[in-house]
Amino acid sequence: MKKVLIFGMILLVAGIESNAQFFQRGSCSTPVGQLMLKEKDSLGSRGVSDNYHLWDNGTTLLVKFMPGGSKILRDKVMLYAKEWSKFGNITFKFVADTTSFTHVRVKLGKGYGHNSAVGTESKFRRQNEQTMNFDTLYWADADYYVEKLKAKNIKPPYNLNQLITEMRADPNHWNEKELRRVVMHEFGHALGLLHEQSYPGAIKWKKTDSVYNYYWQTQGWDKEKVDFNVFEVSNQFYTNGTTYDPKSIMHYAVAAWQTTDGYTMKDNYELSAGDRTLIAALYPKGKKVSDLEVPKVDISNFGKMNVVNDANRRGLVITPSFDLKSNSKIGEVYFVARLATEDGYYIQTTSPYYNWGGSAAVYQKINVLPNSKVSYNKAGKKNLELFIPYNQIPDTYGKKVIVVFAVYLDDVKNKQMDKLMYFSTTTPMSLPR
Ligand SMILES: [Zn+2]
Repeated sequence: MKKVLIFGMILLVAGIESNAQFFQRGSCSTPVGQLMLKEKDSLGSRGVSDNYHLWDNGTTLLVKFMPGGSKILRDKVMLYAKEWSKFGNITFKFVADTTSFTHVRVKLGKGYGHNSAVGTESKFRRQNEQTMNFDTLYWADADYYVEKLKAKNIKPPYNLNQLITEMRADPNHWNEKELRRVVMHEFGHALGLLHEQSYPGAIKWKKTDSVYNYYWQTQGWDKEKVDFNVFEVSNQFYTNGTTYDPKSIMHYAVAAWQTTDGYTMKDNYELSAGDRTLIAALYPKGKKVSDLEVPKVDISNFGKMNVVNDANRRGLVITPSFDLKSNSKIGEVYFVARLATEDGYYIQTTSPYYNWGGSAAVYQKINVLPNSKVSYNKAGKKNLELFIPYNQIPDTYGKKVIVVFAVYLDDVKNKQMDKLMYFSTTTPMSLPR
C-alpha cells in the first residue's frame, strides 16, 4: 500500500548546508501547503500567483524576526521587503520579537536555505514557527572572503567552514545586491507570488541526470525536490492572464545546459514591470477588492482540536473550534479530518464512505454564504462534530494516530478544486484496544 508522508515540507528545506559549496548560492526552496498533502499536489499549485492564498487587499501584515540575526542584517531585510508596498496596497509592519501574534516570521539563520510560506499559507504554521527562512551564509560577500583566504596562501577549493571562520573573524561583509534580490523574492512569496519559471510552457527543462546531479551538489535537493522546486509547471489559471515575464524577481536563474533549447536566464535584481503590474492588480491601491479576487475562506482563532474516544458510539469524535469568514465569492467548503500514523503517514483505506483521496477520513460539506462569519464550537456552542467509527480506521488497533484537520474549497465557477484553506494536526493520541 502506498505510504503518503504528511510532513514533506520539513524535508524540502533541509540539507543545504552540508552540500553547499563556497561559491554556490542558495536557490529558493519555497514549498507550498499542498505539498504537505502529497496525494493532492498533482493539481500543481504553483504559477504566477496563488490567488487562493492572497491576503485581503489593504492588509497590514505584522512581521517579526525569530531569535537571531544581527541588527545590520535585520535592517536590510526590513528595507528591501518594503519595495513591494510601493506598488501594491499591502504593508509589512515589522514588530518587536516579543509580539505574540504575527502574520510573517523571519528566521535569519544558517542551513535552512531561502524559502517562505506562500501568502496566507503562513497561517498553517504555529506562532512559534518561522514562516520565512534566509540562509545568511549565502549572503556573504564571497569574493571578499576568498581574497582573504588567498592572502593567507590557502588554495581552493574552499569549504563552508573556512567561510564561516573568516566571517566570524571579520563579520558584516555582505553581498548587498544578492541579499536585496533574495529578500524581495521571498517577500514576494509571502504576498502569494509563485515562481515565474513555472509559467506554463516557459522553460523546456532537460530532465537529465546532469541536471538532477547539479541540484543535488549545489542545493542538496533529491529528485523529488528538483521536480517540485524547479520543474513544476503551474496551473494556467494562476497566470492571471499575464504573459511570461523573464525579468520577474520570482524567476530562477537558468543555464543553457539545463534546457533542451539552450534558453538562459540570469538572476534578476529588480522588481520587473510585470511584477509591479501584477502586485498592483492583486493588491490594488484605491480599490477595496481586486478584480482578480477568487472565493476564499479565512480560518482564524483556531483553538484546541478536541478528539475524544467515544466508547458508546465506538469511534472518534473530533470537534475543532475556529472562526470562519468568507469573502464575496461563492465556493464549496469541506471540513476534512484525516487520520495519520504516529510517524506522519496518512492511513490508507478502501472504505467508500470514510475516505478522502484514499486516506481514512471523515468530512463534511458546508454551505457558506458570501460575506459571512461563522464560529464553530466557540463560546459553549457545539455546532460541528466529525465522527469516524473505529471499524473504519484500518490497521490501527491499539496504536497511536494523528488527526489532520483541513479546510478545502472548490471554486466551481473557475473549475479550481481542492484549494487548501487551512491545515492543522494534533499530537499523536492512543486509540483504544
Ligand atoms: Zn522562490
